[in-house]
Parts: sequence; structure tokens; C-alpha cells
Amino acid sequence: MPKDYYATLGLHPEATQEEIKKAYRKLALEFHPDRNSGDKGAEERFKEVQEAYEVLRDPKKRYAYDNAGFGLSGDLGSSGSAFEDLFGDFFEDFFGRGTGRSKRAKRGADLRYDLDITLEEALHGAEKVITVPREEVCGACRGTGARDGVAYVPCGQCKGTGQIRYAQGFFAVQKPCMACRGTGRIVRERCETCHGAGHQEVIDKLTVNLPPGTYEGMRLLVEGKGQCGSNGGTRGDFYVYVKFKPHDMFVVRGLDLHADLDVHFVEAALGAQKTIPTLEGSAEIRIPQGLNKEQTLKLSGLGLALYGKPGRGDLYVHLHVLFPKKLTAEQRDLLVKLGKEFGIELPQSEGGLLGRIKGAFR
Ligand SMILES: [Zn+2]
Ligand SMILES: [Zn+2]
Repeated sequence: MPKDYYATLGLHPEATQEEIKKAYRKLALEFHPDRNSGDKGAEERFKEVQEAYEVLRDPKKRYAYDNAGFGLSGDLGSSGSAFEDLFGDFFEDFFGRGTGRSKRAKRGADLRYDLDITLEEALHGAEKVITVPREEVCGACRGTGARDGVAYVPCGQCKGTGQIRYAQGFFAVQKPCMACRGTGRIVRERCETCHGAGHQEVIDKLTVNLPPGTYEGMRLLVEGKGQCGSNGGTRGDFYVYVKFKPHDMFVVRGLDLHADLDVHFVEAALGAQKTIPTLEGSAEIRIPQGLNKEQTLKLSGLGLALYGKPGRGDLYVHLHVLFPKKLTAEQRDLLVKLGKEFGIELPQSEGGLLGRIKGAFR
């Protein structure tokens, strides 16, 4: 059995990174060996919590874990450590932000894209091309923001490091330099292409391959296609979150599909053959003779699939018997005859249609 890291941290699989961090900190402190010396159970729990967090804290590892068994493994590159998350923030909280942890090179932000797909695409898989605006390092100034990449001097305040050190009690604290905003450079002449920003928005086209059995909420990772980093930092990643478009006919519940189908009362009474659309085309269904008002037909294996798992969900067709709101004179005649055949007493009205019928047979 694979371990359920979400359960270990008491979370649901859609938990945000912030929720994961919070849950981890609470549990890690609760079961910390320093507080539970000699307690084997607590020690075991502490290890489990640690292990779960090591995976879920890192978007790439979490992605790989979420999609484990689906054959979509991401790069398991990691950034920082659980230890830093547990204690790093405490230091920040107590001694001010950025305690010796700031780096000049900043990794670019991850980007998220919500991709709406049809149920047919989910079932069969699809290749989708999406258009994404994102930040790229400006080529004209190589990200420096200075004309031709050379029209700058090192910042005198921080001597080009981008960081200023302060003594604060027993600690030396580093903060980004205000004079150069942490870049270490004072631009003399701005780059004309990016107006000194060092980066530019570009419109990129990304091809995303959805495997057969793509499910709602699935996350696909396109590595290195997020925002560019700054000061030589690596690029962020690009995440595609899959959502289903509403379907004309089907409502999705898990892997099962549900459809409503109106059946004329004559068809309900006599039984009938009907063609209904399915995700792969169409299927024949047989309306049983003497259909009751509400009945559900199950078409096995015509639902959705789950990537990497055998089998498919089912299609449920909910039949509703429909009676016409208006009748023509002929239809009414026939129904009256039919009623008589069934021995149904119908209200008589001399001047009405029934009267005329009676007259005709006299
Ligand atoms: Zn530029
Ligand atoms: Zn500076």
C-alpha cells in the first residue's frame, strides 16, 4: 500500500502549500522528540510527518506523488529543506525577515493555467496548444536593465552584492540593498527594449499532451516554462490544471456519466429501440416495454477512464416518460378508443368530442 501523505498530515489532496506547511508545523512540534523523550509512538509519528512533508512541500515532488502510478514523473529536484520551513520562519518571525537566507539569484515564479477540456478529450487524450504570456529575460540587455547590458556601475552602497548586513543583537542580518533594490547594479542608461525592467512579456505557445484518461483536477507539469528568474535565477515551472467543460448531454460523477432521456409514452408502452450519443459515437439502447415513469438503464464501460488504471466508468441513462401536452382530434379519438379497450371510464359530455363520437356510432 502506498502511504497516504495527505492523511498523515490530516489534509485533503487539494490542500494549498500554505495549509500543508501549517499542518506540518503543528504536527512536527507536537511530536518533536525534544518534547516527547522516550515516546516511541511520537517518534514514529514525527518520522511519518517528516516524510510526508518532504514530499508535499515541494511542488515537483508533490506532483510526482499525486500522479504516482500514472507514469507522469516530474523532476524531483528540491529546493531548501523541511528543516528550513520549520525553523527558518521562526527565525524570520523573531528576528525580522530574510535572516541570512536571501540570495541575489531569484528563481522565477511558477505559472498556473486552467485548461478546460471536453469529456471526449479526457477519455481519448488530446494534444492541446495553449497560448501563454510569460516573462522572459530581455535579450537586449541580458536581464541587467541597462543599455546593451553594460551601461551600469556596481552599487556603491552594497558594493555590488545587492545585500546590506545589519548587526541586530547577537545576529547579523542581511537585507536587500535599498539603493539598487537587491540587484547590485546602478543603471546609468536604461535598456530601450525593456525600459530597464530586465525582462519582457512574450507570448509563448506550449503544447500539452493529455493522456487518455485525463481527469478533472489533474496537474501536468511543463518544466522550466514559468516566469524567468532574476539575477541569473532559474526559471519557474508551468502547471496545467485540468478542468472539464460542461457537456450537453452528460453529467460527470466520478468516472460515471449520467444522462437524461425523455421517452414518449407510446414508446414507453410499446418498448422501443433508441440511439443515444456516447463519448465514442453512439450506442443503441432498448426501452423496455411497459417502462415505468422513472427508470435507469446502465451501460457498462461507457463512462470515463482514469489514466493508468484499467477499466472505465459506466453510463447511466435516466429515462423519463413524457406525455404530450396537446392532442389533435385524431390522437384524442385514438386514446379514447384505447381507454375503452383498457376498460377506462371516461367522463361523457354530450356536446363535446365524446358526444360527437357517440353520435357517429349510433
Ligand atoms: Zn532590456
Ligand atoms: Zn546596492
